[in-house]
Amino acid sequence: MPADPHRQTRPSPHPPKRHIFINTYRHLIMLLCLGPLTLAACESLPEPSSSPSGVVIHPPPASPSQPSLTFDSSGNLEFDAWRMDFARRAEAEGRKRETILSVLGGLTPMEQMVQTAAFEQAEFVKPVWDYAKSAASPTRITNGRKKLDENLTLFERIEQTYAAPREIVTAIWGMETSYGGYIGDFDAPRALATQAAIGRRKAFNEGELIAIMKLIEGGAATRDQFRKSSWAGAVGQTQFMPSTFLAHGQDFDRDGRKDLWSNPGDALASAAYYLGVSGWKRGEPWAVETVLPENFDYSLGDGVKRPVSTWIDMGLAPAAATEFAPSADLKAELFLPAGSYGPAFLLFDNFSVIKRYNNADSYALAVGLLADRLAGRADLVRPWPTDIRLLTSAQAKELQSALTRLGYSPGPVDGVIGRNTRKALQAFQKDRQLIADGFPTAEMLETVLIAANG
Ligand code: CA
Repeated sequence: MPADPHRQTRPSPHPPKRHIFINTYRHLIMLLCLGPLTLAACESLPEPSSSPSGVVIHPPPASPSQPSLTFDSSGNLEFDAWRMDFARRAEAEGRKRETILSVLGGLTPMEQMVQTAAFEQAEFVKPVWDYAKSAASPTRITNGRKKLDENLTLFERIEQTYAAPREIVTAIWGMETSYGGYIGDFDAPRALATQAAIGRRKAFNEGELIAIMKLIEGGAATRDQFRKSSWAGAVGQTQFMPSTFLAHGQDFDRDGRKDLWSNPGDALASAAYYLGVSGWKRGEPWAVETVLPENFDYSLGDGVKRPVSTWIDMGLAPAAATEFAPSADLKAELFLPAGSYGPAFLLFDNFSVIKRYNNADSYALAVGLLADRLAGRADLVRPWPTDIRLLTSAQAKELQSALTRLGYSPGPVDGVIGRNTRKALQAFQKDRQLIADGFPTAEMLETVLIAANG
C-alpha cells in the first residue's frame, strides 16, 4: 500500500477465459513465481534415476503389508526425481505411504503452465478500474443478490457465528467462482507438483501438497475432491489453498466433512471464519468514497493511517450520504487508485482483512465495491477515468530514466511504478505547479520527456 495499479498484468488467454475469473491474482502470483524457468530451481533437484525405463526404483517397503513407494515415470525425469525425493520426505515427516501414492501417483507435469508462464511476462498493464468494473458487473450483482435471498437462513446463522458480513462473504464467493458456478477442473496435486518440481516456490507448493495429504488423512476431504481446483491449486467455492483449508476450513453442518466444493454452508462459513481470524471488525466499513477539497495535497495519499476527524479537518467529505458515518476516532488511510483522475477512498482496517484473502489492492477494492452493491448501496459517485492511458512497463522505464536525468530519485529503472517513482513524479509535478498526484499517465510521461529532453 498505497495501491499500485501498474503492478497488474493482463491475464493470459491461457487457460480459457472462464478460468480467469477464478483467482486472477493468485494465478498471477503463481505465474510470477514460475517465472523464467531458470536452472536455479532445477539445480536443487536430486539426480534423476538412472533406471533406463525411467521408473524410479526405491528400496522395499518397511512393512510387508505396505505398498511400495514407487511411481511410474511421468516421462519427465526432472519431475520424476523431484517426486521421488518429495515422497520420501513426506513419508519421513509422517504422511502415510498410501496417501502419498494416491496424491502423487500417476501425475505428469502440466505443460500448459510452463507455456503460459512465458506468455505472462509480456509487458502489459491492466488498469485497476477494468478489474473493479468487471468484478461488480450488473450480472454479478444480480446473481449475488439472488444468492443472498436464496440463502437467507444460512447467512443469518453464519453472521451469528462469525464477524464478517454476508455481503463481503458473498462478494468473495462471486469473485472467486461466480457463486460456486465454476470451481475449476484442474487436479490440485498435479498443479502444485508441477510448480514444486519446475517452478520457483518449491517449498510453498510442497507445503500445499502436504496439506492435501493431511486433509485426506484427517477425513476432511477425499483425493477425488482435489481433482477440482483452480490451476494454482485453490479449491472449493471460496477457493482456499489447501494449507488455508487445513488451518481454517469449517464443517458448518457438522456432518464430519469440510466440503468446500459442493456444500455452500461449509464454503461460506470457512470464508467468514477466515475473515474473522484475519481481524474483521464487525460493524466497521471497509472504505468510504471521499471527495477531496480544492488544491488538495496529494502527498497525503501516502499510506499513513490518520483519524477520520483529521481527514475531516483537512476538508475531506463523504462522496455520498452513507449509512456508515464512520466515527471520527477510527483511523483510515487515503487510497487514490486513479490518482487525481478518479474516485478517492478512505480505507479502514477491514480493507486489509480482505487482502488477507488475496493480497492485491485491486482484489480487495473489487470485493468491497461488489459487496456495497450487493448491500444495496449506490455505485461510486465519481466515475473511473476509463479514457486515460496508463504506461506500459517500457514507458515506465522511460519515465524513471527521464526523472533521473532531471535530478529526481525514482529508484532503479525497472519499469515498475513503486512508491519512489510516484514520489519523484510528485516532486516533478510540484516544481512545475501541476496537480501533484504522482500518478503516471501517458500524457504525464510526455510532459516529463519534454522537460528532460528540452
Ligand atoms: Ca460439512
